[in-house]
Amino acid sequence: MVIRDLFGGLGRGLGGLTGNAGGFFEPTVRLGVTGLSRAGKTVFITSLVANLMDRARMHGLRAEAEGRIRGVWLQPQPDDTVPRFDYETHLAALTGSNPHWPESTRAVSELRLSFKLQPGGFFGGLSGPQVLHLDIVDYPGEWILDLPLLDKTYDAWSAEVLASLQDREEAIEFRTLLEKVDPTVSLDEQQAKALAHSFTDYLGRARGAGYSDCTPGRFLLPGELAGSPALTFAPLSRGAVSRRGSLGREFERRFEAYKSQVVKPFFRDHFARIDRQIVLVDALGAIHSGPRAVEDMRRAMTNILTSFRPGRTSWLGALLGTRRVERILFAATKADHLHHTQHLRLTAIMAAMMREAKDRADFAGANTAAMSIAAVRATIEETVRHNGNMLEAVRGRLLDTGKEAAFYAGELPENPAHFLVPAREGAAKWLDADFGVMRFAPNAQGIRTGDGLPHIRLDKAVEFLIGDRL
Ligand code: GDP
Repeated sequence: MVIRDLFGGLGRGLGGLTGNAGGFFEPTVRLGVTGLSRAGKTVFITSLVANLMDRARMHGLRAEAEGRIRGVWLQPQPDDTVPRFDYETHLAALTGSNPHWPESTRAVSELRLSFKLQPGGFFGGLSGPQVLHLDIVDYPGEWILDLPLLDKTYDAWSAEVLASLQDREEAIEFRTLLEKVDPTVSLDEQQAKALAHSFTDYLGRARGAGYSDCTPGRFLLPGELAGSPALTFAPLSRGAVSRRGSLGREFERRFEAYKSQVVKPFFRDHFARIDRQIVLVDALGAIHSGPRAVEDMRRAMTNILTSFRPGRTSWLGALLGTRRVERILFAATKADHLHHTQHLRLTAIMAAMMREAKDRADFAGANTAAMSIAAVRATIEETVRHNGNMLEAVRGRLLDTGKEAAFYAGELPENPAHFLVPAREGAAKWLDADFGVMRFAPNAQGIRTGDGLPHIRLDKAVEFLIGDRL
């Protein structure tokens, strides 16, 4: 194991310098894009690439404002075994005659974008343009949330999961099924399948209700592993050590196989090579779901931070060695659902959640930031009169009906503590507020060739993530 991990470390060091398929000694930055399912990864990467190739809407990017980006182009995918991010199909979905949202992320994919840059500063003017490769790696956030599993035994994980689902109505069926299970009986594959199925069902519903602590992540996004034994187990309360061949013992074995054959390779092959990371967060969705979902999101952020910059004493820190992700941006997505007058409040909520997460994480420090963005802006702003009050709203075409409508999500509190304190204290709902969400269709009208896609603060996000390398 150690040797394999060492190999992972070596390969990654060379990859960073030479960029594998790129020219020799052309530097490469690997940008990880993650977030839970439907957080907006696919839309983000599509808009990022479109707006980097056509930069009319990217003035917040310093290198662009200084006129130093001479060209940006797509390259063949450098990692032969990783699927290429299907940029062209996703862009066509957003900008075709019937604009629609692209298919979401289901697994890892990658894309290489190359920049021809004129170096900045006094001496920069004296040298010729240089090439920088940006490898964009898209992967489901559910998979990162699995990393803490590597530190846990089956019994510890089971105890945690069973405690968390105790008061969740999404788990009623699984709990009922579990009551009839005796972990000491011999394994029966049909029973194992039924348990795994019911547990997966619960995870899906919990995700739908806004919870983020839904491990194992591959149960929700199994890819080619669907139905394999490594994905056919569920948490059990075993009590005394169970005998060989029993349901409890077999589930423990499968849990260990999941860790070593699913979680660890992902971590070694993809995650450990990332230099910069954006974590997309559907904060508005969580706020809409209520305080529990917000607290759960904060907990997920803690896990994510721990995974990226673990303290040296942890197993992960030891594996990563000196190479760690240098910048992490937590971005609240879909900010186009709010009038810009509320964006600062959304950012303040993200920043406060991040601060709490950092305080609790085993985190060795990296440059972190919080921001509110919309990778693709689907709305325009509008002030509407409602019950005699003027509301700062947004207008767009509704996804369900195709009709235009104005929408007011609710007023976010000026002080993030008004959300975070009840969330931490386990409140069931917000005291005096109600937040809506609405799904708008993408709006490609008025996009001229060479303009990129309309967005909110995508340029600022890119400046934070890679501005120092451009
Ligand atoms: P993924 O699962 O993380 O890849 O999520 P997607 O990128 O597929 O986004 C999920 C859904 O969120 C999309 O189908 C859109 O409905 C919505 N969405 C994502 N980004 C934006 C955005 O910038 N603005 C708006 N209005 N909706 C967005």
